[in-house]
This record gives sequence, structure tokens and C-alpha cells, in this order.
Amino acid sequence: MSIRRMASKWLLALAVFWPVLLLAAPANLVAAHFAQIHGHPGLVLDFSAPVEHRIFTLGNPNRVVIDVDNARLATALPEGQGVVKDLRSGVHDRTGMRLVLDLTARAIPRSQLQPKGAGSELLVSLYADKPTAATQPVLTAASAVPQTGRPIVVAIDAGHGGIDSGARGPHGILEKTITLQIARRLAALVARHPGFKPFLTRTGDYYLSLRQRIDLARAAHADIFISIHCDASHDHYADGATVYALSTHGATSEQARLLAERENKSDLLGGVNLSDKSNMLASVLLDLSQTATIGASLDVGGRVAHQLSRLGPMHRDDVQQAAFVVLKSPDIPSILVETDYITNPHEARLLLTSHYQQKVADAILGGVTNYFDQYPPAGTELAMLKARKQRSLAAAGGAQDSADYGVADRSKGNR
Ligand SMILES: [Zn+2]
Repeated sequence: MSIRRMASKWLLALAVFWPVLLLAAPANLVAAHFAQIHGHPGLVLDFSAPVEHRIFTLGNPNRVVIDVDNARLATALPEGQGVVKDLRSGVHDRTGMRLVLDLTARAIPRSQLQPKGAGSELLVSLYADKPTAATQPVLTAASAVPQTGRPIVVAIDAGHGGIDSGARGPHGILEKTITLQIARRLAALVARHPGFKPFLTRTGDYYLSLRQRIDLARAAHADIFISIHCDASHDHYADGATVYALSTHGATSEQARLLAERENKSDLLGGVNLSDKSNMLASVLLDLSQTATIGASLDVGGRVAHQLSRLGPMHRDDVQQAAFVVLKSPDIPSILVETDYITNPHEARLLLTSHYQQKVADAILGGVTNYFDQYPPAGTELAMLKARKQRSLAAAGGAQDSADYGVADRSKGNR
């Protein structure tokens, strides 16, 4: 085709599609108000149509920025209150809307988008960004929860985000994108599983330090913490999944040590220095509770690895141990799943498909529920169900015992 004909075809295509792009009606922000969301201060935004959004934080001064594509302000914004000093709006990317929340203190935003009528409701909650609670006595988080059959909270941590893209695969695939997609699928599965409740540490493409991830999970009273990553190697043939738990002394393998270094670097990217905290944590790590937590992490990790091994090759069959910062909660069993190699062209292709992502999420859920079926934490719905089952089994077993005696008595009588 000649350049001129090609150009005219392009112009024709533009002429046909451009009006469609221009005519897509913007979503109106029709209501905005402050509310408590899951016990945290937050903002409820109602849009007249489904929207796409991004949320991120800025420092000096502390701000939360919410960008909504193809949307405009159609209501008055409320006056600032609590941690939100002020609220401003502007135009972003020509057709989008940008809301800026000026904060009185650092906060970590979490957003949740849900359909509401013909439109959608965007919930933005603000979590206080407080120092790590690692020095608090163990089990404080669990005992603070009322003992009335609570759900088991599964904290799902999508690795990387924002300026930290993680590993890169062929065709510009980014680890941070894949991990969030798998995390969302896993959260949806957990939400549908009776007795379980998901909690996503990261709900969009923004940066979270490793400490913030742990703190968010702790604030949500997580019973387990699962960090999702994709592996990377200069060797494009390297393949398979690996599951990690924390090690107290040294890593299982040199490879694990190198990987821990790479994943832990995320914090340096955000300018957060971990060296002071590591020392404090080091003492906590010696605590018996940590040893018990690592034991639980190895157990649940083994079950997840077993489920993953049914999907394809494993890079390592056994749960590996490494000093990942993100696994260092002294009282929450924590595992890190390197799903596959994003640098392996075959696995990268798989990781991009919703079908395979769903299988990975299914496998992780299988391992986790399998573990909690056996060891339901005290006070959970699952623990109560199990206790009831055992009581009825014991009652049936008692009846069985007397029946046995009956037989024995008869045999005696026959002698
Ligand atoms: Zn990673």
C-alpha cells in the first residue's frame, strides 16, 4: 500500500473513531462526603457512571491525590475535617478530574470501587501511617477482636507498585501489574469463601513501603499475610514457582539471599531507611512467638507450594526461607509467593492470561484454606464450626464405645 493510501486510510479511521471518543459522556461526581470506612476516616464519592481511578500520595506537604478518568465535578466538595485539612479539585489529563486532599499527617490511602445504580461509588479510606507495632506484645491484634465467630482475615499483598515496578518481562510487562491482577483475583475468591475475609494491602498502582504493608495488614487484624511476586532471572529458561517463609538466621540458599536483597530494595526506592528498624526487629525475631510463626508460615507455605505444583513446574519444591522484610510480622504467619518467572517468555505469556492468573489464585486459596481448616485461629467462625463438629463426633464416638463394650460383654458371656 502506498504511503498516501495508508495515510488516507488512517485519516478515515480517525474520522470514524474520533467522534466516538469525544462523545463518551463524562461521569459526574454527584456527591462527596466524609464517612468512617471500616473504622478509618474516609471519603465517599458518588459518580453518575462507571469510572476508572488512580490514587497516590505526595509528601511535603502530605497529600493524597485521586485521579478519575473522564469525569467532572458536579457537586460542592465538603469542608475538610479530621486528618483532611482541605479538599481541592482540578482538571487532569484534559478530560479527567483530580481531587487533592491536603492532610495534617501522613496517611496511607486505600480505595474500593463498587457499582451503585447506573454509576459507581468510590470509597477512599485513610489509614494512619504510624510506626511499626512490632514491639507490642504478641497477639494484641488478635485479642482486640471480639470473640464472636469472626472471619479469618487473609491479607493479600500485591508486590511493588507506583514508582517501584518490580521485575520486567518481555514486551514491557511489569511485575507490579501482574501481582495486582492476581491479588485482586485471590481477594475475590477469598470473599466468596465462607468464614474468610480478604484484605488487600495495595488496591491500585501506588507505592507502599514494606513496613506500611505489614502495618496495614496488622491494622486489618490479618490472620495470614501473603505477598505475591513474580520471579526474574537473566537466564530466560529459568521457570517455575517458589514459596518463601522468613528465616531467622541466614537464607536457605544463596539464591534466596540474592532475591531477598532485590525484593527488599523496594524500600530504598521510597527513600525509607530500614537499618534502624531491623535491629529492633532482630531481638523480636529471637522470641519464641516468632519461631512459632515461622513454623506456621512453613506449614501453610508447604500447602500452597503443593497446590502450585499441580499447575506446572516448581522452581523449588520445598518452601524456601529468606530474610524478606515483608515477612517479618512476629505474630502473623507470612509467606511470599514468587508465582512464575516473568523473564521466561512462556511463563510471561501465561501470567498475562486471566485463565492462568485465576488458576494461581485458586492454588493459593487452596493451600490457605487447607491450613486453616486444620488450625482455625481461636474465636473465628471456622474454629467454632470445628469445635461443634468435634463435639458431635465425640458424642457419636461415645455411643460407639458403649456398643463395643456391649460386644465385649457378650463375648465374655459366651465363654
Ligand atoms: Zn517482586
